[in-house]
Amino acid sequence: MNKSDPMDPNSDKAESPASAGETSVEPGVLYLVSTPIGNLEDITLRALRVLKEVDLVAAEDTRHTGMLLKHYNLQKRLISYHDFNKKRKAPLLIKRLKANQSVAVTSDAGTPGISDPGYYLVQLAIREGIQVVPIPGATAFLSALVVSGLPTDRFAFEGFLPAKPGKRRKRLKELHEEKRTLIFYESPHRFAKMMNDVSEILGQRRVVVARELTKKFEEILRGTPEEIRKSLGEHKIKGELVILIEGKE
Ligand code: SAM
Repeated sequence: MNKSDPMDPNSDKAESPASAGETSVEPGVLYLVSTPIGNLEDITLRALRVLKEVDLVAAEDTRHTGMLLKHYNLQKRLISYHDFNKKRKAPLLIKRLKANQSVAVTSDAGTPGISDPGYYLVQLAIREGIQVVPIPGATAFLSALVVSGLPTDRFAFEGFLPAKPGKRRKRLKELHEEKRTLIFYESPHRFAKMMNDVSEILGQRRVVVARELTKKFEEILRGTPEEIRKSLGEHKIKGELVILIEGKE
């Protein structure tokens, strides 16, 4: 590599972190903009600038992203892009990108592409030769992992388990021998059933439930599935949850 090769970290042209922040959005580029998972302060300066400058924001939840933009005094046209309209909307977004518009995509919360329809759009964009740029920020599973106290050196993110009991139990059985820390997203109304299945299939391993991260009622519960069930008693768990389970010893 010669001295001005931008791929060479020692090159004259390699950007320092300080100078890398001030570029404006590029036409025809898809930006994956991470937004807060609760606390509105958990957004980067770069994310706000990109949201301000792009031609269009495709939001999984327009109400949610609208509130965020309002909080930061940003006025922007929002287009809804979610799991139920992705097949119809993604080609339209690609068309806009090909017409040299810049597009930001936001998730309901956190990083687009993690357990949401962002992935579908990214695949399509790559196939069409469109540049995709990540704007990093909050993501629920990573915040949960680092406070869990479970090993962070190797982990397996499993997203949502199947909703149907038979398929959910089958997946847990397949994970029985996994040595890495297991991470799941789960809805509160399926939590009790999931704990029963975990208790029966994976046994009394360490479990951590990270609830309502970065929000007013943030809570981290630690224990075996049995202990967690007992500590909750008859109370139904509420809010958003990340569940982490110790890998097999
Ligand atoms: N893209 C998001 C991310 O980066 O984490 C995740 C989207 S997924 C559809 C939503 C799930 O993330 C929720 O059901 C919950 O399991 C988890 N989640 C989101 N916000 C959370 C929070 N504040 N506390 C705990 N879990 C959260």
